[in-house]
Amino acid sequence: MSREFDIIVVGAGASGLTAAVQAARKGASVLILEHMDRAGKKILVTGNGKCNFTNKKQGIAYYNGKNPAFVLPVFEQFGVPETLQFFENIGIYPKNKRDGYFYPASEQAASVAEVLLMECKRLQVRIAYNIGIREIRREAEKFSFFTKEGVFISNCCIIATGGKAAKKTGSDGSGIPYIAQFGHKLTDIVPALVQMQGKQSFLKELAGVRAQGCIRLYIDGKRIAEDEGELQLTEFGVSGIPAFQVSRFAAYGLLYGQEVYAELNFLPKLSREEAKKLFARRFIANGAGKNAAQALIGLFPCKLNVVLLKEAQISPGQQAQRCTRKELNALAYAAQTLRVDITGTKGFDFAQVTAGGVDTAEINPATMESLLVPRLYFAGEVIDIDGLCGGYNLQWAWSSGAVAGRAAADALLTQ
Ligand SMILES: Cc1cc2nc3c(=O)[nH]c(=O)nc-3n(C[C@H](O)[C@H](O)[C@H](O)COP(=O)(O)OP(=O)(O)OC[C@H]3O[C@@H](n4cnc5c(N)ncnc54)[C@H](O)[C@@H]3O)c2cc1C
Repeated sequence: MSREFDIIVVGAGASGLTAAVQAARKGASVLILEHMDRAGKKILVTGNGKCNFTNKKQGIAYYNGKNPAFVLPVFEQFGVPETLQFFENIGIYPKNKRDGYFYPASEQAASVAEVLLMECKRLQVRIAYNIGIREIRREAEKFSFFTKEGVFISNCCIIATGGKAAKKTGSDGSGIPYIAQFGHKLTDIVPALVQMQGKQSFLKELAGVRAQGCIRLYIDGKRIAEDEGELQLTEFGVSGIPAFQVSRFAAYGLLYGQEVYAELNFLPKLSREEAKKLFARRFIANGAGKNAAQALIGLFPCKLNVVLLKEAQISPGQQAQRCTRKELNALAYAAQTLRVDITGTKGFDFAQVTAGGVDTAEINPATMESLLVPRLYFAGEVIDIDGLCGGYNLQWAWSSGAVAGRAAADALLTQ
C-alpha cells in the first residue's frame, strides 16, 4: 500500500466515512485509519438496529454544546436535503417515520454502513483496519502517522474518532490525546442520552413501569430542561427517551457537584387544579364501593398507583369516598411532581453520545479546519456538539464529515 495520501482520516465511523467519500469525490487520495476490525460499528447499533439517520425538524434547539449555533454554517452547506440526496444516490431510500424521523426503507442500519463502504470502494478510498496510532506529528507541513504498521504521511488530517460513548463500537476516547497534542482545548466530557440513577427507594417498586409523562430536571433548584414522552422506571432510576434528552444536563450538574433532581409528572396535560378535580371525581363522585387503590385502576400502572398513594400518605385499603380533600390534593401533587434525586448516570458504556469535546471556538465552522493547526480538520462527535435523540447526532456526523472532507480536498486542489 502507498504510504502517502492527500488526506488521512482517523476513524471509519459515520463522520469519517462521509468525510472520506466527499474528499475522494473531489479527486483526493484518501486513507482511513481505523483501530477496529471493521468500519461503522456504531452505525449498526443506531436506532435499535434500524438507524434513525436524520430528522426533518432542525434548528439549534436540537443541539447542545458550549456554542450550539456552531452547527448552523455547517448545516447550510450540508443539511437534511443534502443528506437525503447523498444517501439516496448511494442506495438508501429514506422512510419518513414518526413525523420527520428518517430511517432507511430497508429498516436495517447495516445497509447504511454498507452503502458508505461500497462508495468508499468505488472511489478507491483505502481503509487500514486494526491500526494502532502511536502518535500523529505535524512535520514539514505534512502529517506523519506513526502506527504499528509503519509511518503514513498526508497533507491533511481529519480527526473523526467519535467520543467515549459505547466503547465496544470503537469510540473509546483514544483519539483525545492526538487532539490535545495539537494544542486544542477540550471542554468537559460527560455521557449523554443515557439512563439516570436515582436515590429514592420507591424506584425498586416501580421497576418495569412505563407511563406517559413529563420529566423536569432541576439543578441547584433551577429548572434546566424538560421533555415529555414515555417514561421508563427501572430499579436504579429513570430511563426512556425523555430521560435521555435531559441526561446531559444532569451529568454536567453532577460533575460540578450541584444538586440534581427530576420531577416526574404523570398527568402532564392537566393543570394542578384539573388534576385535583380528576381525583375528586374518581374518589368521591365515582368511588362508591372502591378502596383508594381500586379508584386509581385504569389511570396509571398498578405499581405506580401503590407508590403515589404511599407518597400522598393514603392507605391503599382506605375507602375511596373517605379520602379527604387534603389527601386527594397530596395525591395530585405526587402524581405531578414525583421527585427523584439524581445520583449518577449509567455512564459512557450505556450512553448513546458524548457531550463535550473539541472546543468549537478553535474550529472554523465554514470548513471544520482547526484555527490552530493548518490542514487539521475535525468531524463528528469528537467536537463539542451533541444532539437530542431523534437522528440529530448522525446528522451532525454526516454534515460535519461532509464539510471537513470537501474543505480538505478543496484546500489541496487550490494550493
Ligand atoms: C446505541 C446507540 C444508538 C444510537 N442511535 C442513534 C440514532 O438512531 N440516530 C442518531 O442520530 N444517532 C444515534 N446514535 C449516536 C450516533 O451513532 C453517533 O453520534 C455517531 O455515530 C457519531 O459518529 P462519529 O463518526 O463522530 O463517531 P463514531 O461513529 O463513534 O466513529 C468513530 C470511529 O473512530 C474509530 N476510532 C476511535 N478512536 C480511534 C483511534 N485512536 N484510532 C483509529 N480509529 C479510532 C472508532 O473505532 C470508530 O470507527 C446512537 C448511538 C448509540 C451508541
